[in-house]
Amino acid sequence: MPIRRALISVSDKSGLVPLVRALHGHGVAILSTGGTARAIQEAGVPVTEVSDHTGFPEMLDGRVKTLHPTIHGGILGVRGNPEHEAAMAEHGIAPIDLVVVNLYPFESTVAKGADFATCIENVDIGGPALIRAAAKNHGAVAVVTDAEDYDALVDEMKSQDGQVSLDLRRRLASRAFARTAAYDAAIGRWFTGEVGETFPRHLVAAGRLKQDLRYGENPHQKAAFYVHGLARPGVASARQVQGKELSYNNLNDTDAAFELVSEFTEPAVAIIKHANPCGVAVAGSIRAAYEKALACDPVSAFGGIVAVNRALDRDAAEAITGIFTEVVIAPDADDRARAVFAAKKNLRLLITGVMPDPATPGLTVRTVAGGMLVQERDIGRVEADDLKVVTKRAPSPQEITDLLLAFRVCKHVKSNAIVYVKDGATVGIGAGQMSRVDSARIAARKAGDAAEASRLAEPLTRGSVVASDAFFPFADGLLAAVEAGATAVIQPGGSVRDDEVIAAADEAGLAMVFTGMRHFRH
Ligand code: 5GP
Repeated sequence: MPIRRALISVSDKSGLVPLVRALHGHGVAILSTGGTARAIQEAGVPVTEVSDHTGFPEMLDGRVKTLHPTIHGGILGVRGNPEHEAAMAEHGIAPIDLVVVNLYPFESTVAKGADFATCIENVDIGGPALIRAAAKNHGAVAVVTDAEDYDALVDEMKSQDGQVSLDLRRRLASRAFARTAAYDAAIGRWFTGEVGETFPRHLVAAGRLKQDLRYGENPHQKAAFYVHGLARPGVASARQVQGKELSYNNLNDTDAAFELVSEFTEPAVAIIKHANPCGVAVAGSIRAAYEKALACDPVSAFGGIVAVNRALDRDAAEAITGIFTEVVIAPDADDRARAVFAAKKNLRLLITGVMPDPATPGLTVRTVAGGMLVQERDIGRVEADDLKVVTKRAPSPQEITDLLLAFRVCKHVKSNAIVYVKDGATVGIGAGQMSRVDSARIAARKAGDAAEASRLAEPLTRGSVVASDAFFPFADGLLAAVEAGATAVIQPGGSVRDDEVIAAADEAGLAMVFTGMRHFRH
């Protein structure tokens, strides 16, 4: 699309002069609002005021400047559509191919501590309308909302003979909608505070309210559940078939459980407490996997959340309802399984229809005081081919299978995470400790407790393999695993003391592999 006419209306005039010079160099006619037009004139670049173009003055203290059909018709008219083109011709509407707008500085006005009336006056009305119109009609119009994008625009026009590609127009349009969304969110946030609302719903600008929750992590905290329009399958898309109302903690734990079982292709079960697994297993059936998962830590599993990655049948439902369980989440459940659950009135059964894909990219968001931390979700996955054997002994094929399972579970355990696995099931999990050696010891101790409870002669960690979510900084964590009876270790590697840790593993006759990938979870 060649750019023939541009509308420029910017509060922040930085970068304006080089931009308009470049546009003028390509023969672009420039329309502009009062203050912007003055700045362009001063730079010696020809410009037409919007009021001259529309024949309608800027009015109401600038509240109405560009809100006119001649402007919005010029932006929104679909090129190549005979009816649109006829209407534009009939009403003397000239097409506008480029819109450059940055908005009234609402956010910085609030930050400066301005009074209520001044903040309100800095709510831009025409600017967002221009931006949204241009972004909607990105098939023909380029929209720039940030001075940082001027160079990209000018560079492309320079290299493409004054044209802007559809690819760039689409990218600019996506940024434009993100900008107006953030702008309105800022206004909503400020206004909600001004009127003394205690629960600012607009904070979750990108979400749709799915349900109010009884309370948050604790009864004195209000809470609600928001879902994204483009949600991945999972807790947000689940249908509650039966049971009590879901709580904030239920949802948080159920999410952790379901994401964990989605990692496995074979039938898998995860039992979760306080967002950490207390048992994970894979087996030939969900019932068998549940029994193995439960054996890991039957004490903690009481009142837990159970996630499975296959449709539930009666066998599985009977096993799961053998102890008190808060929530069960599954892709499906057959009628007989549903009948078993129905006898437990309080148990919440969630059905999702499909499993989440653990490889789908996405973002995780966490708030910190006054801001947000945004990161890509951890879709890292280590396969057998990625493992580097660093000890004299290489793991056996069975050990490799268990090592990979242990490392996948580790990804879903709060750091520092140590996970013992034997025959497709976790047998000891150490989570959330401030020292790795403590996590290793706790995992081993819990395995000992579980063995005692089941009247087994020795701890379940004897002959197991162990995974660590990050490298062992010292040999002590590894030695704790040796003491527990582990025969093979999986860990990222990369410590300055790797040599010491490898030597300790060799001395104990362990097989150890490095993944080169860390799975911190905080
Ligand atoms: P200028 O400095 O050119 O006089 O004004 C530029 C600002 O006016 C830009 O931030 C732009 O978003 C805003 N603007 C453009 N059209 C309108 C309108 O019709 N109403 C309001 N309130 N602001 C507008």
